[in-house]
Amino acid sequence: MSVTIADNIARVRDQIAAACARAGRSPDQVTLIAVSKTHPADDLMAAAAAGVQHFGENRVEESSIKIPQVQARLDAPVTWHMIGHVQSRKAKEVVPLFDTVHSIDTLRLAEKLARAALDADKTLAAFVEINVSGEASKSGVAAYNWQDDAEVRAALIETLGAIVALPGLQVRGLMTMAPLTDDVEAARPVFASLAALRDWIAERIGVSLPELSMGMSDDFPVAIEQGATLVRVGRAIFGERAVQENWRR
Ligand SMILES: *Cc1c(COP(=O)(O)O)cnc(C)c1O
Repeated sequence: MSVTIADNIARVRDQIAAACARAGRSPDQVTLIAVSKTHPADDLMAAAAAGVQHFGENRVEESSIKIPQVQARLDAPVTWHMIGHVQSRKAKEVVPLFDTVHSIDTLRLAEKLARAALDADKTLAAFVEINVSGEASKSGVAAYNWQDDAEVRAALIETLGAIVALPGLQVRGLMTMAPLTDDVEAARPVFASLAALRDWIAERIGVSLPELSMGMSDDFPVAIEQGATLVRVGRAIFGERAVQENWRR
């Protein structure tokens, strides 16, 4: 098992390097987050042994057990990224477990996380999740057609402006999920739109938003070509996810 995970990580790193070369970027500019949701602690240990320093999880309950388990077995700390939808009432539980939250999709959630971070004397790195594609099934601050829709732009300025001003959060950039399709090229305009939106809003609200969290197993090379600085890769490292409860093994 661990040989496979190490092999997969080597292959993903080669693909990251190739995409960076195509885009004229340095691989140092792209952080690989191994998305370990549903997988047991042993698999995370194998990934850490292969050099992974960033892990992504999406459920508070699973994380509250698995993160301390893994951290206790590691010699050095790794960085934990919450990438899944967070309910406002779980904000308090997220703060002690995670360094970074990628899935801030409402001002209300941002406020709860900021408050919990302040109470814990911690600064939480944060990404605002943006729904660029307009799919109703996706969370994220609405940004469909932002280039042509003044109302959408005004709402983005208001929401993002309020979130970046919250003490307790350090907003690093924007995150999105591309539509699920078999055609990786279908993701490209979504990633390009997020990158353009980042440039525009950073200037408009006068903050630096250096990071773009975009790209998963099927589309991370395209995301890197469009400017991703963090890619969230699960299946290409750990294999297909079986049942959610697998991690209890
Ligand atoms: C599960 C998940 C990923 C990883 O997806 P894979 O297709 O397994 O690479 C990335 N981002 C988010 C938000 C996820 O929930």
